[in-house]
Amino acid sequence: MEILSAQNVTFSYPDATESVLDDIHFTIQEGDFVLLCGPSGSGKSTLLRLLKEEIAPHGNLGGNIYYRGSMIKEQDRFLLAKEIGMVFQDPENQIVMERVMDELLFGMENMGYTTDKMRKKVAEMVHFFGLNDLVNKKTAELSGGQKQLINLASVLLLEPKLLLLDEPTAQLDPIAAKEFIHLLERLNDEFGITILVVEHRMEELFSVANRVMLLDKGHLVVDQSPRKAAHQM
Ligand code: ADP
Ligand code: ADP
Repeated sequence: MEILSAQNVTFSYPDATESVLDDIHFTIQEGDFVLLCGPSGSGKSTLLRLLKEEIAPHGNLGGNIYYRGSMIKEQDRFLLAKEIGMVFQDPENQIVMERVMDELLFGMENMGYTTDKMRKKVAEMVHFFGLNDLVNKKTAELSGGQKQLINLASVLLLEPKLLLLDEPTAQLDPIAAKEFIHLLERLNDEFGITILVVEHRMEELFSVANRVMLLDKGHLVVDQSPRKAAHQM
């Protein structure tokens, strides 16, 4: 089943003469684990933010983005905020609360979850991630890797179907990065969460992803299985 697709997507920032994305086509199927790579400036972050519908109003977007076969409309934003989770490179930027527990509750409170449901979901998440030692801490006391875990857990509490991650391990040490990638693998395997991740840790990701997309100067030049993509990169 198709979850997200881009048809003829072209994008340029306001006042820019050149487009950042040029005639992009792809379809992501439910359960896919996609590695998106490409040199710095090739348009990876822009593409992720477009898929999350965050910057379209501020630039010149051509073509269409479909979620589950339907074009995304203004009134779908609240729904999409829940269905599509996003994790960014810098774990600091995404954390807003002083206490870890409040950080975990924040998104669910905004979505109007009942107290019972929040309690149940947090307990599940603490168990899955092994967060027992962290839940009673202040967010400022956490390492970068721990912060990124809390970010991911907070996003997952909203039960997204699709996760977009923009270099989530860039600030982590190699061990924390490996653990983070392993968690993504489990989320994909055990919960069927669809994953689109921008990563420079290609070696780790090539064995986990079922697809590799390569952007080059705004063109999607590779969209293949990792095995085939390896021959084209
Ligand atoms: P990547 O994530 O692959 O490094 P980006 O999507 O961040 O690429 O950037 C692609 C191009 O768009 C770059 O040339 C960058 O300078 C430009 N760009 C990114 N964000 C903005 C912005 N907010 N305004 C104008 N240009 C931008
Ligand atoms: P990435 O690590 O994804 O490549 P960048 O370092 O390119 O990100 O960009 C970091 C931030 O700066 C982003 O929010 C992006 O929108 C913004 N940005 C990047 N290039 C430009 C630009 N030419 N003009 C304005 N903002 C930009």
